[in-house]
Amino acid sequence: MSDRQAELDALLVRIAAAPDAEALRAIERETLEKEGVVARLLASIPTLPPQERKATGQWANQMKRAVEEAASARRSAFEAAALDAERSGAGFDATIPGKRPERGSLHPVTRVTRELEDLFTSMGYVVLDGPEVELDWYNFEALNIPRDHPARDMQDTFRCDPEGNVVLRTHTSPGQVRAMERMKPPFRAIVPGKVFRQETTDASHEHTFHQMEGLVVGRDLSVGHLIGAMKTLLRGVFGREIEVRLRPGYFPFVEPGFELDARCPFCTEGCSVCKRSRWIELLPCGMVHPNVLRSGGIDPEVWSGFAFGLGLSRLVMLRYGIDDVRHLLSGDLRFLEQFA
Ligand SMILES: [Zn+2]
Repeated sequence: MSDRQAELDALLVRIAAAPDAEALRAIERETLEKEGVVARLLASIPTLPPQERKATGQWANQMKRAVEEAASARRSAFEAAALDAERSGAGFDATIPGKRPERGSLHPVTRVTRELEDLFTSMGYVVLDGPEVELDWYNFEALNIPRDHPARDMQDTFRCDPEGNVVLRTHTSPGQVRAMERMKPPFRAIVPGKVFRQETTDASHEHTFHQMEGLVVGRDLSVGHLIGAMKTLLRGVFGREIEVRLRPGYFPFVEPGFELDARCPFCTEGCSVCKRSRWIELLPCGMVHPNVLRSGGIDPEVWSGFAFGLGLSRLVMLRYGIDDVRHLLSGDLRFLEQFA
């Protein structure tokens, strides 16, 4: 047996016999670290005759691996022994429950969004996604809101470039045009997502909130179809029949346009949620304007459609009795843990 092999064997014997972790660490230091045997061996290579260099390098690596493996095995043995000692010692009680990891839960907006997605999917709608950073064309122009249109003032817009061609979408309605571009009529689609307004925040206004756009394109669709879809939606959210009413509302991308109110689900006599009126303003909706159908490449002579813009954040607040919209995106765990 060569001197080298004997040296390694002696090292491995010492490792296997190391009495504790400290002793083991000392052996590793003198072998593997800066001034250790392996390092010295590697450092000597340039001084050796060329024919010995390769073998010496290989040996140094082999030695390093052998020491590392032996040390790791010895360390595991120490840990197992320590655990055994703890288990057999006084005061150890195997019946004490372990510490449970903290569990997260779905955000209320996510939860309601998923429920609505399930509901609409069951009615034949597809769920679409759209960009949050949107072109002015999709956010305004294609929705029948040209540059000089006063309706633009109703939506305080975050603009992303000096020319104003790129915006943070102010509503999910650009999803209507994108849906029309992607799908052939007849179709039904919803587009849930975040929207952004440059607003002073208070209990009912937030710069970032959630909406869900809905669009149905087909032949001979009427306001009756729209009301039917909205009643199904409310039944899904509140678990029972909810009376609705339509009031005329102006939105450039629908004609006629409506504000849909729902009977306040919280009272019979008037309460703070419905401001004593017994009605809750829920969503703008209407029959899709022919110009918008044209923007989406659909012939308004053949096809008609209805659309609605559900205020998801508002619906979540109604559902869970949340009185301040700012809670939703606060990231405050005291708020979020209530939905676990
Ligand atoms: Zn009420």
